[in-house]
Amino acid sequence: MSGRDASPSEPEQAGLAASGNDKEAELDQLKEEALSCRRCSLRQGCRQVVFGVGNPNARLMLVGEGPGSDEDRQGEPFVGRAGQLLNRILQAAKMNRDDVYIANVVKCRPPNNRLPVQPEIDACLPYLQKQIELIDPELVICLGSLATKSLIDKNASITRSRGCWRKIGSRRYMATFHPAALLRDPGKKKLVWDDFKEVIKAYNNPDNGGSVNE
Ligand code: SF4
Repeated sequence: MSGRDASPSEPEQAGLAASGNDKEAELDQLKEEALSCRRCSLRQGCRQVVFGVGNPNARLMLVGEGPGSDEDRQGEPFVGRAGQLLNRILQAAKMNRDDVYIANVVKCRPPNNRLPVQPEIDACLPYLQKQIELIDPELVICLGSLATKSLIDKNASITRSRGCWRKIGSRRYMATFHPAALLRDPGKKKLVWDDFKEVIKAYNNPDNGGSVNE
């Protein structure tokens, strides 16, 4: 006879734990694959692949365009001046950087901080798509035009589409300006904060997060 009674919720808990472990294992495997990637020429000119960082079970994911020099040096997205501004936005929204997941469209730094070109985006995008599939966030915030065009609509204009939720599959996507754009033009800060108010609403109240365009 067993020395302890099994709680009815134990099998469920065990199942959930296993799926969480599977997810983290798959994410680790994807990271390993990206770290040794040579699919495009960006890898030749950068120090390291910047895969992404954060909570593998995040409900909110933030996506930028690609690593800059600080990110290339430290191996983590959004750690330079734009990253510090993003941290302040998250703090103002009462969100912790460790609770969300942060990644970029391309994982290797383009030379001289140029924007990635389409073949580089096409080569790298499957990593981001798989990250989104595995992390399975409810909300994805596209920071800047490149992430918006890559994930929401290739013809989207950031100035026209920002601040509106767009439902794609089971997820809601929103475009807003990249923090680097706010450093160049502080006048955009208020617009981004208006967008983040909608993000806060959706994050804190998943069933009633504002109007959505299908
Ligand atoms: S940018 Fe992406 S596709 Fe290109 S080498 Fe780096 S990880 Fe691979």
